Amino acid sequence: MPEFGKYTKELKKLISEAEHILLICHINPDGDAIGAMLAMRRWIMSQDKEATMISPNALQKFLLWMKDVDKVLDFHHSPGEGARLINEADLIIMVDFNTSSRMGKAEQLVISSGARKVMIDHHPDPGNFADLIISDVSRSSTSELVYFLVNGMEGTEFSDSDFITAVYVGIITDTGNFEHGYYTGDTMRTVGHLLDMGVDKERIHDHIFSNFSADRIRLKGFALHSRMVVHPELHTAYIWLTKEDLERFRHVKGDTEGFANVLLTMQGIVLSVLFVERTGFVKMSLRSKGSFNANELSRKCFNGGGHRNAAGGEMKGTIHEVVNHFENTLPSFRSELEEAAKEMIR
Ligand code: 5GP
Ligand code: MN
Repeated sequence: MPEFGKYTKELKKLISEAEHILLICHINPDGDAIGAMLAMRRWIMSQDKEATMISPNALQKFLLWMKDVDKVLDFHHSPGEGARLINEADLIIMVDFNTSSRMGKAEQLVISSGARKVMIDHHPDPGNFADLIISDVSRSSTSELVYFLVNGMEGTEFSDSDFITAVYVGIITDTGNFEHGYYTGDTMRTVGHLLDMGVDKERIHDHIFSNFSADRIRLKGFALHSRMVVHPELHTAYIWLTKEDLERFRHVKGDTEGFANVLLTMQGIVLSVLFVERTGFVKMSLRSKGSFNANELSRKCFNGGGHRNAAGGEMKGTIHEVVNHFENTLPSFRSELEEAAKEMIR
């Protein structure tokens, strides 16, 4: 990102001038959204300032062990208190999203607020709804970007133990422990520094990757065995889960995280989708390999978005209607799918 120093200077100034700082992340927050928000707050607190935090809806269970996560206000659950925090803020820092609709029901209040607004994000094509847009698609995660911003503002390595934990969580969740997603030498050097500073990696990995219920493991087995569809000629595989399937395995939020990635380990597959039925709509997660642009497909097909190789969206209707819509649209991407698959076997 050009002129990185300029961004750190501006951000530091905005923070130092603000009296009521609010951090907000995207709906259905993942480890990166929460990691980036908590990490940013730790540095703000080190400057003898407070910052409140809002998530548009509830957090997933696998993140609840993180320090100060109990201070994140669930806007869906407490809209009145959320509105109070938004109205009171004179600086709102939005992390890990590029379109304002990702703030869910908090969107209008934030957009119409008179507070100064900062976006810190790593998704492509940031929308224009902040006074200061710090967007860097070359970062594995918003948490990695926060790490560099904070060290820039601090002037040296900020070694607060909750800060390094939060940054580490963001990086390993957005890269699936370096199995997918996008990461660079900078990411690995950052991880190196975090390890040097004593980040408790065993404990963190245990919380994030080895903390599943028996029901969740069974749901995954069922999904792969009974709900997986493969179109080898289109280099695509998907899983569809009905509301009844979820109930049968006593699904809790976050249980289907990672299912779409599994399908990409299949030979010849460059696009995978997970469809999960909710009440009146279907939520989908897309993953892709190489040049195939899941973000574009999600935008066109599901009014969604994300990154080139990891995107999401949602669509009104039953699971069967939405899967049919996908089945009908998919062939129009045949040449892009074939191209990406060809690159894979080079
Ligand atoms: P996931 O499949 O893990 O929920 O999301 C993958 C990526 O797509 C993330 O970067 C996330 O921010 C983005 N994403 C997920 N759902 C949506 C959505 O409904 N709309 C948009 N614009 N992006 C989404
Ligand atoms: Mn992210």
